[in-house]
Amino acid sequence: MVLGTFKGGIHPPVKKELAKDKPIERLEIPDTVYVYMVNHAGAPAKVVVEKDQEVKTGQVIGEPGGFISAFVHSPVTGRVMDIKKMYHPIAGRPVDTVVIQKTAEDDWELLEGHGDYQNMDKKQLLDLIKRAGIVGMGGAMFPTHVKLNPPPEKKIDILIINGAECEPYLTIDYRTMLERAEDLLKGIKIMEKILDVEKVYVGVEDNKPGAIKHLREVFSSENVQIVPLRTKYPQGSEKHLIYAITGRKVPRGGLPMDVGVVVQNVGTVVAIKEAVVDGKPLVERGLTVTGEAVENPGNFIVRIGTPAKFVLDHVGLKDNVERVLFGGPMMGIALRDINIPVMKGTSGITALPAEITRTAVEMPCIRCASCVSVCPMGLQPYLLVKLVQKKRHDDAAKIGLMDCIECGSCAYSCPSKIDHVRYIKLGKTVYKALRGAKK
Ligand code: SF4
Ligand code: SF4
Repeated sequence: MVLGTFKGGIHPPVKKELAKDKPIERLEIPDTVYVYMVNHAGAPAKVVVEKDQEVKTGQVIGEPGGFISAFVHSPVTGRVMDIKKMYHPIAGRPVDTVVIQKTAEDDWELLEGHGDYQNMDKKQLLDLIKRAGIVGMGGAMFPTHVKLNPPPEKKIDILIINGAECEPYLTIDYRTMLERAEDLLKGIKIMEKILDVEKVYVGVEDNKPGAIKHLREVFSSENVQIVPLRTKYPQGSEKHLIYAITGRKVPRGGLPMDVGVVVQNVGTVVAIKEAVVDGKPLVERGLTVTGEAVENPGNFIVRIGTPAKFVLDHVGLKDNVERVLFGGPMMGIALRDINIPVMKGTSGITALPAEITRTAVEMPCIRCASCVSVCPMGLQPYLLVKLVQKKRHDDAAKIGLMDCIECGSCAYSCPSKIDHVRYIKLGKTVYKALRGAKK
């Protein structure tokens, strides 16, 4: 059988063996949580609680700050100790943060109107998902109620569940597919009702045969096809997943809905089930804690706002730790402070020793074209770097600067150890700022 795949990409060591056989455990709740009002893509949420206010688990503490934004809820039952600015590793600046001290065991404020999804209409389902504050949990944190409600002219006929989990080290999606397949199926059925799609696929890399087999057994009587994909990074990128499964190409600058597809990550689908059926807002998530510098790697359910240090203390850090990342080594963000709290998009915490993270000295480009051959977006990474270095941002944009998905395949394959992604991110920021200034 020919497995779905895409052009380009790389084969880094997957390192899934560190945590793939560890069942998901529920981590203890910390005494204090730090909840960012930027726990989603789009406009920051607006704080709606006050200092010293008592809050229940699941109570709204932040309301959407715009059309593309999301509700934020208290992950614990306790008291608001402070509302302050705290550094946010994705925004790269301090953002409003609600600090809550746990004072009691969970006293839940569940979502009004939850229950039997079969007796709900599209509007009710979307409203529950919106009020639950659900966002893309694969990392992008795009508000799910917006993604599930495309404009009427964009007819969606295919729903794809992203179980590729191509990022090295991470195994939470794999464990979720093994342990929560029934919840996954309910989440799929809810989305089928909302989108009225003709076909549902679950894409899983072929290095997870246990998940493929299990999902095929649980979903055997359903209109859901489990699609094994060739193991290759970045197979989990939306555009490459869509191409590998359907053969449809998302146009440059376009979105999956432009080709009639909606993609949702495995964790997001389970969160949808928990919101609609159980009434639970998104206040916790599954994540993998792994890496060669971790004593006891594993998969955990962690409350949003839990400091990374609290999680790392639980698994134990080895003395040789050099770098801690939110996410995996390819697309993760290096933490400059391990007190940074877990966000809705944090799919893993990876701690690595110096022998793995050691950064080599950048050498001049030797025009080997290795970066070109691996780029899954068909870009010329060496040229993008050169144009950004020369501050020719408009020219870089003309050859696809904004199409780069920051997968890092180019840097991984470069014999001169050029950190393309660093230049490309910088180039994008400057280009957007200049474009705004020219309006
Ligand atoms: S240029 Fe961007 S999309 Fe292409 S390989 Fe590099 S990081 Fe990935
Ligand atoms: S892989 Fe590195 S050395 Fe080779 S062309 Fe690209 S930037 Fe230059």
